[in-house]
Amino acid sequence: MIVIIGSINMDLVLRVPRMPRPGETLPGGQFQTIPGGKGANQAVACARLSSGKDEGSRPGRVAMIGCLGDDGFGATLRQAMRADGIDDSHVASLPGVVSGIAAILVDANGQNSIVIAGGANDMLSPAHIDEARALLEQASIVVLQLETPAATVRHAIQLAHALGKTVVLNPAPAPAAGLPADLLTQIDYLIPNEIEAAMLAGAGDTIETAAAQLRAQGCRNVIVTLGAKGVYAALADGNRRFAAQPVAAVDTTAAGDTFIGGFVAALAAGHNEVDAIAFGQRAAAWSVAHAGAQTSIPHYRNLV
Ligand code: ADP
Repeated sequence: MIVIIGSINMDLVLRVPRMPRPGETLPGGQFQTIPGGKGANQAVACARLSSGKDEGSRPGRVAMIGCLGDDGFGATLRQAMRADGIDDSHVASLPGVVSGIAAILVDANGQNSIVIAGGANDMLSPAHIDEARALLEQASIVVLQLETPAATVRHAIQLAHALGKTVVLNPAPAPAAGLPADLLTQIDYLIPNEIEAAMLAGAGDTIETAAAQLRAQGCRNVIVTLGAKGVYAALADGNRRFAAQPVAAVDTTAAGDTFIGGFVAALAAGHNEVDAIAFGQRAAAWSVAHAGAQTSIPHYRNLV
């Protein structure tokens, strides 16, 4: 089983002819609500991309630990996870709290501005992680990001590592202060994008030196996603570059989340890292060729 610990948001997407100025009222917008949040996106990607001898998502293969509010968005977000076969038994609905949202303005050029209100995501506590200990014991791989409180992420990484689980951290959004040294030594796969890798390792570094530096600090493997340039991987058994799958890019939203889901699903199915990276890139390329966030995450059957 794969366990994802992280954020669950409703994305409130407003398409506008152009960005409004302060104080301005702009007519002509188009509104859409889409389930999102890095944690939920990665859970959906893991579920849809889990293979085996069967197709797509199957109940019980992927579980999520997170927090929703007790509002309408919370109910819709829970339903969306269930529809993808994700075990939501450790997704709490917190009374009197609002669900996390991302308010996203997209202009006619595809340029976006985003404000996130963490809501219930900000209340995910070490106690919620301890309550899910039995679930974590069943996991082979535990996946985290940084859209939930740092103290909770730290506690969860320590517990998962102590239980002997493979720990995957997507350090997004990247903390300006970097990651604590003692935490890096408990991470099996650190998967930043190019910007996050540079932020974590310090400005001025090349991707190669940034990845080498993060490995020297104790991360077992560092896999840097490079957008259309593919992936650079500094693995315990050597460094490699992987070209991206050539594709006509329509919308790169959730490309990174889809890569992580594909990589983790393949790893959980017993593939080696090189094959898992290739599969993650195939999945990410499909997502780039399709519009939206969770709507652009492929199923296993779309790729074979
Ligand atoms: P993020 O969305 O987190 O910023 P990236 O932009 O690095 O992540 O993209 C993640 C992965 O998605 C890349 O490693 C690559 O496999 C794939 N990808 C992203 N953009 C493209 C593109 N234009 N063409 C092909 N693959 C892409």
